[in-house]
Amino acid sequence: MPIPSAGETRYFPTPERVAFEPDPAVELPSGAEVIVVGAGFVGAWAAYHLTRAGMRPLIIEANAPASGASGRLCGLALAGVGGHFARVNALVRASSGRSIAEYTCRSLDLLEAIDAELPGGIEWERCGSLDLLTDERQEAEGRAMAEIQRAEGLPVEMLSTEDVIAKAPALDAAQVRGAKWTPGDGQLNPFKLVYGLLEAAHRMGARSVRGVRVESVVARSGRVWGVETSHGVVQAGAVLLATNAWTPALVPSIAANLTPIREHVMVTERLPRVLRQGFETNHCNEYWRQEPTGELLIGGHAATDEGMGIGTYSTTARSEIAPQLARLLGRFHPSLRDARVVRVWAGLLDFASLEVPMAGALPASDGTPLPGGFLVCGLTGHGLPYSAILALLVSELISSGASRTLPLEPFDPQRYVGVAREPTWLAPFEGGLG
Ligand SMILES: Cc1cc2nc3c(=O)[nH]c(=O)nc-3n(C[C@H](O)[C@H](O)[C@H](O)COP(=O)(O)OP(=O)(O)OC[C@H]3O[C@@H](n4cnc5c(N)ncnc54)[C@H](O)[C@@H]3O)c2cc1C
Repeated sequence: MPIPSAGETRYFPTPERVAFEPDPAVELPSGAEVIVVGAGFVGAWAAYHLTRAGMRPLIIEANAPASGASGRLCGLALAGVGGHFARVNALVRASSGRSIAEYTCRSLDLLEAIDAELPGGIEWERCGSLDLLTDERQEAEGRAMAEIQRAEGLPVEMLSTEDVIAKAPALDAAQVRGAKWTPGDGQLNPFKLVYGLLEAAHRMGARSVRGVRVESVVARSGRVWGVETSHGVVQAGAVLLATNAWTPALVPSIAANLTPIREHVMVTERLPRVLRQGFETNHCNEYWRQEPTGELLIGGHAATDEGMGIGTYSTTARSEIAPQLARLLGRFHPSLRDARVVRVWAGLLDFASLEVPMAGALPASDGTPLPGGFLVCGLTGHGLPYSAILALLVSELISSGASRTLPLEPFDPQRYVGVAREPTWLAPFEGGLG
C-alpha cells in the first residue's frame, strides 16, 4: 500500500462524534465545578489529579470507561516514544528547554507510584523493552536514536545479537542484528489503571456518568459556560476534553492537525513464558508483550490495513491483519509459529501533525484560547508515557491557574490552530511487516 501524499484531505477527514448508546436512566446534575469529558487514560488521570487538588469533577463518558483506545492498546509504556522521540524533543526543547524524556519518565514514575497506591495495583512491571533491529539500516537508525536519547537523559543501551539472545533466548538469532534496550520501560494492565483511578477519584468526591455524549462546549460572555449533552445542558466552571481522536468534532479549529488512525491488536491463547525480559518491538512498528497469565498480545500499524488505517474513524477489525501479525511473531519467535489467536480488535490513535501532543487551553471557534476550556489529545500512539504527566499539568492549570510540576507551554494547542501543518510522522510511517 503506497503512503498517501501529505496534501490528501483524508488525513483530516470530516470530524465524527464517537458512536454511543444513550442511557435513558441517567440523570445529570444541573452544574459541576469541573467537567471531564471522556474516561480513558487522560480522563481518568485528570479526575484523579483534580480530586487530589480538592476539586469535584463530573466525568461524562459516552460509553464505558476504557471503551476507547485505553482499553484496546497493547499496554506498553515506552519512555522513548518510539520513532517520534527526536522530532518531538526538538520542538519541546525549543519552547521550554526541557527534554521530552523529563515528561515521559515522569509519567512512568507516576504509573509506578499508582501501582503501589491503588488497591489491587495495575500489574505494573518495569520490565524494560528490546527494540529489535533487523538490518543495517535499522541498526544505524537505532544507534543514532540511542545517542540522542542518552544525551537527553534516557538510559538506553545498544546490544549485539549475542547480547539480545542472552536476554531473550527464544528469539531467532538469524532475524536479529541487534537491539536498543531501554531498561526503564514498563507494561501494565490498562483496565486496572482506568478503573482504579476512577474509583480513587470517586472516593475523593468525583462523580461519573456513562451513556451520555457531549455534543458541544457552550461558551457565554467569552468563557466556558458548560456543555450541551445528549441528556441536556450542564453548567461548569471548567471543561476538560479528554476525547482522543473524536476531539475535532468538539474543537473544529484543530481538525486540520489531528488524524485518526486505526490500529490492531491480537491476543493468543495462554502460552508458556517466552518473553523473559521485557517486551519487544519490531523497530517500533509492531510490538508484543506477554501477560502475567501467559497470553501474548501483539499489535501495530499493520502496513496491510486499507490505506494503512490512516484517516478512518472505523474501529472494525479487518480479518487479514491478525494472520499477518501472527506470521511476524512466528518469524521472530519460531516456538510461537503455531500459537492460536483467540481475539483481535482495533482502536483509534490520534496523531498530531507535528507529533507533539496537544495539552492546555481549548481554542474557541475563532481559534483564540477560551477561558475555562481545556483539552488533552494528539498522544500520537503513546498514551502511557504522555497521559499521566499531561493530565497532571492540565489539572494543575485548572485547579491553581498554572502548571507547577513541569512547563506545559510545549504542548499548547495554539501550535496547531489556524494552520494546517504537514504531518512529520508520514515519512517514518512505513510499516515493518515482512
Ligand atoms: C491498537 C492500539 C494499540 C496501542 N498500543 C499502545 C501501547 O502499547 N502503549 C501506549 O502508550 N499507547 C498505545 N496506544 C495508544 C493509547 O491507547 C492512546 O494514546 C490512549 O489510550 C489515549 O487515551 P485517551 O484517554 O486520550 O483516549 P481514549 O481512551 O480513546 O478515551 C477517550 C474517551 O472519550 C470518550 N468520548 C469521545 N467523545 C466523547 C463525547 N463527545 N462525549 C462523551 N465521551 C466521549 C470515548 O468514548 C472514549 O472512551 C495504542 C492504541 C491502539 C488503538
